Amino acid sequence: MGIVVQKYGGSSLADADAIKRVARRIVDIKKAGHDVVVAVSAMGDTTDDLVDLANGVSPLPPAREMDMLLTAGERISMALVAMAISDLGFTARSFTGSQAGVITDSVHGKAKIIDVTPGRITQAIGEGHIVIVAGFQGVSADTKEITTLGRGGTDTTAVALAAALEADVCEIYTDVDGVFTADPRIVPTARKLSKVSYEEMLELAACGAKILHLRCVEYGRRYGIPIHVRSSFSQLEGTWVVSDPQTSGPSEEDTMEQPIIAGVAHDRSEAKITVVGVPDKVGEAARIFEALAEAQINLDMIVQNVSAAATSLTDISFTLPRTDGQVAMTALARIQAEVGYDKLLYDDKIGKVSLIGAGMRSHPGITSKFFAALASAGVNIGMISTSEIRISVVVDESSVDDAVRATHSAFDLDADEVEAVVYGGTGR
Ligand code: ASP
Ligand code: MG
Repeated sequence: MGIVVQKYGGSSLADADAIKRVARRIVDIKKAGHDVVVAVSAMGDTTDDLVDLANGVSPLPPAREMDMLLTAGERISMALVAMAISDLGFTARSFTGSQAGVITDSVHGKAKIIDVTPGRITQAIGEGHIVIVAGFQGVSADTKEITTLGRGGTDTTAVALAAALEADVCEIYTDVDGVFTADPRIVPTARKLSKVSYEEMLELAACGAKILHLRCVEYGRRYGIPIHVRSSFSQLEGTWVVSDPQTSGPSEEDTMEQPIIAGVAHDRSEAKITVVGVPDKVGEAARIFEALAEAQINLDMIVQNVSAAATSLTDISFTLPRTDGQVAMTALARIQAEVGYDKLLYDDKIGKVSLIGAGMRSHPGITSKFFAALASAGVNIGMISTSEIRISVVVDESSVDDAVRATHSAFDLDADEVEAVVYGGTGR
């Protein structure tokens, strides 16, 4: 029988009892005749605690040392899970990302996986062991340094392993029953999606749905790995992320038409920078965004206003991860004289609310309904951006919850009864 790749998140590994429970689940799969490879996250809020510790020691910890620190979290859980498995009479071998052959580029804190060479994993499987891999980390091909894949990166480790090992499915175990139409912590009547397409899941993840790491979905789509997101606290079927929900994944009795809207996502992790008074001439935007690219900053929305005719000056606003705010402001300050802009404004009291669904392509009127819902909830729109299957707005951070609830009910996404159970985690 085939290889099963699983991932367990921090809330599924919160303490010794939780680890023993996960070990029993893993052993059950092995007993059913499968080879098992498991990617694990750090226990509970370990990663956040380590980040806090680092910030207590230094306001700007060197990125290399941050990675050395944070990867320790996953090493703790991998060893403990392996011990718990051995206590159940099976053998497990734990490997760090580097030992497991997770090769990345050299960007600390958000490295990309460029290759997986799972020689030690296949050898250990051949010897009959269960394999446990520390998630969210790898080793740089160039610098030979240990890297991390960004917060939530263990999902990506799991899918990358599934691709390299040609597994049939990658199971992502978490503390909710699957992917919901909105965050159940904000909308208790959110519905569980039984299937969702990679493209919709990519938008959901990019727009702040924390259930899956963005790269993991990209990886799954590229290699055609079905991702089954489910709870480690129940035996329920979760959500299948597949290429085409109509034709792939487990079939349903009542094969219903794909809904127009997959869900409403929100994100409170971004900040907005406005470059005020940029001379309206060729090459200025290029120079500004070059400086940000050199600083390795991923931008999200970008808005440039039409310049006021009298001044020939324009404002450029964009959003970016709050964690990159300081670095971006410094990079832009450095080119102020060269570009000749007036000043920089920084706002981190913003939130982004996004409506996502492949059905938008063929159904008019979605935008007006979305904006009407926001208006009736008294939410003011700051910025707007769209893709073929998404509409996002930037709003005041304090109106995010209202905006999500109003949108969710305007599109009739509410379930008749509460389906969402949040089993663990602090939502940190
Ligand atoms: N432990 C890391 C984090 O909390 C990676 C992960 O959980 O996937 O972000
Ligand atoms: Mg975690």
